[in-house]
Amino acid sequence: MESANIVSGAFISAVAFASEKHRNQRRKDADASPYINHPIALANVLANEGGVVDATILSAAVLHDTIEDTKTTADELRQLFGAKVTSIVLEVTDDKLLAKEVRKEEQVRHAPHISTEAKLVKLADKICNLRDILASPPADWSAERKQTYFNWAARVVAGLRGVHPGLEAVFDGLLARQSELL
Ligand code: NDP
Ligand code: ZN
Repeated sequence: MESANIVSGAFISAVAFASEKHRNQRRKDADASPYINHPIALANVLANEGGVVDATILSAAVLHDTIEDTKTTADELRQLFGAKVTSIVLEVTDDKLLAKEVRKEEQVRHAPHISTEAKLVKLADKICNLRDILASPPADWSAERKQTYFNWAARVVAGLRGVHPGLEAVFDGLLARQSELL
């Protein structure tokens, strides 16, 4: 039977909420693209490259940087989007009290232990960031810094493997383009 042609209202609410929270923020590329392009890109990768259409996972994807990068609290997300979406977002949120190097190592250490849903969001995040570094990188990054990011992302994704072979292949295809950074 053909699936019903229905869009999740909760997912649209999450997109609207994220766009409001990130409204004054920009990415780090030379054009300073609107920040919201990135959370939407994660949902696009999951749904249209990964076939992941679960509204809870897609909502967590569009909300994934709200706690880390805006004044959004976990309670706020819980009230609006429920406990499951909130717990996925928390699983992919860095502890900003830690030094940057420590946060990066914590991502590598945590990756194998997070939920399947959080692994999917994290994998999509790394796919989107590698794509951005290849196509529209942070304006002031040297080739070496881009390489360092690729190598670190590969270590994080090593801990997520098995969650979605198709999206892992997409990630590996991007990793294979690392020589383009030189
Ligand atoms: P990051 O290395 O964490 O910056 C990358 C992050 O910025 C991404 O994960 C992404 O995070 C976000 N982002 C925004 N715009 C873009 C874009 N266009 N392309 C890709 N990612 C984008 O940055 P920090 O400045 O926080 O530095 C962290 C580490 O880098 C430190 O550990 C430091 O030691 C190291 N470093 C290395 C240098 C070098 O030359 N090798 C120099 C200086 C620092 P999200 O998806 O969460 O928004
Ligand atoms: Zn992100």
